[in-house]
Amino acid sequence: MRSVVRPVFPFSAIVGQDDMKLALICAALDPSIGGVLVLGDRGTGKSTAIRALAALLPPMRAIVDCRYACDPADEDSWCTECRERPANTAPKDRAIPVPVVDLPLGVTEDRVVGALDLERALSQGVKAFEPGLLARANRGFLYIDEVNLLEDHLVDLLIDVAASGENLVEREGLSVRHPARFVLIGSGNPEEGELRPQLLDRFGLSVDIKTPTVLADRIEVIKRRDEFERDKAAFIAKWKKADDQLRRRLVAGRKRLSGMVIPDEVLESTAKLCMQLGTDGLRAELTLMRAARALACFEQADSVAESHLRRVATAALRHRLRRDPLDESGSGARIDRAIEEALGS
Ligand SMILES: [Zn+2]
Repeated sequence: MRSVVRPVFPFSAIVGQDDMKLALICAALDPSIGGVLVLGDRGTGKSTAIRALAALLPPMRAIVDCRYACDPADEDSWCTECRERPANTAPKDRAIPVPVVDLPLGVTEDRVVGALDLERALSQGVKAFEPGLLARANRGFLYIDEVNLLEDHLVDLLIDVAASGENLVEREGLSVRHPARFVLIGSGNPEEGELRPQLLDRFGLSVDIKTPTVLADRIEVIKRRDEFERDKAAFIAKWKKADDQLRRRLVAGRKRLSGMVIPDEVLESTAKLCMQLGTDGLRAELTLMRAARALACFEQADSVAESHLRRVATAALRHRLRRDPLDESGSGARIDRAIEEALGS
């Protein structure tokens, strides 16, 4: 696996788009939130933001020579090969960047799930498995631009794998099962195609991004983009301090996650809000709770407050609202109203 390191626009240098940045940070801090859907017009910097997030993440420890980058500290999640290592040889590990894997439209299923390694089959007569994109995305992010245009059979496949955290390949005489736990990041323009509800449900958070309408912001966007294009190294160096600081907050936030207190009143507000909106099942409540907790951790709070809940409510719930034919107001407005009705203004 070769990777070319390209200079990436710094996360801290992205102008505005606070909802998107917050959602990405929450999902990076606690992957159990379950992925982010970024909806908006073309050219609003969706892909830039996702690449920037990848560059921001602290490296992770991975077992050397493992094709799935297994976590040396989490034996339960190991692949078959790591499990079959002789018990007396402790696996060597090293720090690697968190993978952010692109899943391009029109990709073949073989490329996604992996396939028989034809070269080895032909030259050595060995039935070996050539891992696909799902293997590369293990423990990282799987990014699908224009996710709403993805073919149905790939959507079904992703829904299955994202739910189970495992990729099972049974074809061409192969039978392989390997870990495939990733955070799904999708972006798309809702005007170009609807997303199936089952796939929507796999995204913990969803954000709308728009071209900035404030003149000063637009000017700043152009200025920074131009500065970056003219001298990438200098621009990255200029923003390094801000990005480093953000990375430290992310690491510190993760450490707080397991001990973070969620008072009963906040849980009650979470449930009330979801009841008010009539969201189905428990997933809405769980996601809302996790996102509020991640935000509290990121902000170094001692416990989760209702204010955290309010700030992530739209992102956690917007894509879970059922259509109301009598209510033409946008989903954001419906959530604002529900917050006011359930929790007061
Ligand atoms: Zn492994």
